[in-house]
Amino acid sequence: MKKIQLHWQILIALILGILYGAFLGDYVGYIDWMGDIFLRALKMIIIPLILSSIISGVTGIGTAENLGRLGLKTMVYYISTSTLAIITGLLFVNLLQPGVGADLGLTREVSELGIMQHSFGQILINIIPTNIFEAFSQASMLSIIFFAILFGFFINFTSEKSRIALTTFFDATFEVMMKITMFIIRFAPFGVFGIVAYQVSQSESITVLAQSMGLYMLTVILGLAVHALITLPLITRFIGRVNPVKQFKAVTTPLLTAFSTSSSSATLPLTIQSVENNSGVSNKISSFTLPLGATINMDGTALYECVAAMFIAQAYGIELTFIQQVIVVITALLASVGAAGIPMAGLVMISIILTAVGLPLEGLGLILAVDRILDMFRTATNVWSDTCGAVVIAKSEGETLKV
Ligand code: ASP
Repeated sequence: MKKIQLHWQILIALILGILYGAFLGDYVGYIDWMGDIFLRALKMIIIPLILSSIISGVTGIGTAENLGRLGLKTMVYYISTSTLAIITGLLFVNLLQPGVGADLGLTREVSELGIMQHSFGQILINIIPTNIFEAFSQASMLSIIFFAILFGFFINFTSEKSRIALTTFFDATFEVMMKITMFIIRFAPFGVFGIVAYQVSQSESITVLAQSMGLYMLTVILGLAVHALITLPLITRFIGRVNPVKQFKAVTTPLLTAFSTSSSSATLPLTIQSVENNSGVSNKISSFTLPLGATINMDGTALYECVAAMFIAQAYGIELTFIQQVIVVITALLASVGAAGIPMAGLVMISIILTAVGLPLEGLGLILAVDRILDMFRTATNVWSDTCGAVVIAKSEGETLKV
């Protein structure tokens, strides 16, 4: 019998998970451990994977000039795609006006949410860890990435003996981490089944949600669809000169995993694996762009932040001026950069936008109920944009790809 390809297996698992959660929700205790184990395994490898991957990648990049060029390209891609995403969201939310006339009672207390307290400047400062081991133990991705880039970069300036020893060591560690990743990936269908079944069994009935929040959800999902299925493929096609359909096929496994786990960080090992093995991007580029992308490049989140903030304004009957809308766009970009690659991180970050334009924070209560569902769509969009970025940048560096 022909073996079913992994991404089909995951898709089947996803559908079975939805069915199990919907019809056998009371028995979810029998199977949710599968999701738990899968997520734990992924989280287990993230830090050693990022560390070894970035260090071995950055030593490969070599000179400061190359690193600077790659860094600049990466940032330009991240900022432009996120801004395009936000503008798409702004367009749809102004067009469909999901919040206007909506009679939506506050569903939950905002105090549960742990509102973001850091300013953006502080977030930047916090990138420099005071204690790298604390950064590891708290999984502070940006600090870990910062340290790893620095470490990898300065390996190039050590004596030949140290340089060879360290490069060999980190290359070898990275190889092992990838092997472990491949091993974990094989269990993805079980993991996805467990996670999705659990989530579905916990969420309020879809019909109830759809009735009150349908138009809002539709606005977010339509915006995400346009960005993911039109904007990003056009960029991939015309700037990267890469076939977007092939690229999509190459990264289906991480996309489905992102959709099921709602976490770009947890998906990162699978993203690296697919972009390197299926798209053919070198480790030098993927190891630099993907961990960074999983942390700061969140097109889906950026779009969602903008739509959600505008929706809250509409629901409260507050008319935002042009300038205020510009502030929404800018803060949505910053909030998406600041959001961690974990489930519902984007929801909390909306408080930044609400504060910036003077909207009531209680508005978060409005969108809480449907956040988890929208999180799935925006996380998949986030990861899709990271992978497109990796191929576009690889192409611009003259690499020959498989897609
Ligand atoms: N869950 C998203 C991610 O990991 C972040 C968000 O909540 O928007 O990419």
